[in-house]
Amino acid sequence: MPRCEILSTGFSKESSETVMNSYSERRSMKLMDAVEVYRRGSGASQNAYDWYRQSAKRHGNVLFGRTTVSAFKKHGIWHVDGSEFQEALRLNRERLAETGRITEDHRKGIIHGRDGDRIETEWGGYQIRGPFRFEWSNYEAIRKKSGGRWICNACNSPANTEHKKDECHLCRDWNGCGRDCTLSRVVCQECGFSLDI
Ligand SMILES: [Zn+2]
Ligand SMILES: [Zn+2]
Repeated sequence: MPRCEILSTGFSKESSETVMNSYSERRSMKLMDAVEVYRRGSGASQNAYDWYRQSAKRHGNVLFGRTTVSAFKKHGIWHVDGSEFQEALRLNRERLAETGRITEDHRKGIIHGRDGDRIETEWGGYQIRGPFRFEWSNYEAIRKKSGGRWICNACNSPANTEHKKDECHLCRDWNGCGRDCTLSRVVCQECGFSLDI
């Protein structure tokens, strides 16, 4: 079982030594336990323990979700700051809940964000571009089945695309840019909205 522990005994809040020793006396948790706790709580992509250990070694901190947590060696074992780690867990829970809401809204046809915003969903995400959004699925992207598709925000129908731009030099001379660089226009047949790219 992972556990948080107070490393020192005889801890006194009033003592001036508390400030001096706060680094070594603060609540800490073994990095290995923290990684396990985080892994169980996050539905997101998982990094191996070694990835965290390398980061601790190189930077003196590790990243849980989007939060940086201080890491230090105690008795030759990597530990993380207990309160910082709890905060990282809290923020990650909030973010997962928010992504859950956005995913549920998307299912009902409710679209979030303003022009240019990238919105994360449980299956991938979308980016708002004028009256349209470009949606992608992580599952399809990883399998290179599809980079994504254009959808009209007003009617949620797939939009038509026109490709009248010249290929970029990466597509002409190399293996390609991996983007839809010839895309010139997005049009919704239903609503008549259009966007020049
Ligand atoms: Zn439309
Ligand atoms: Zn290109």
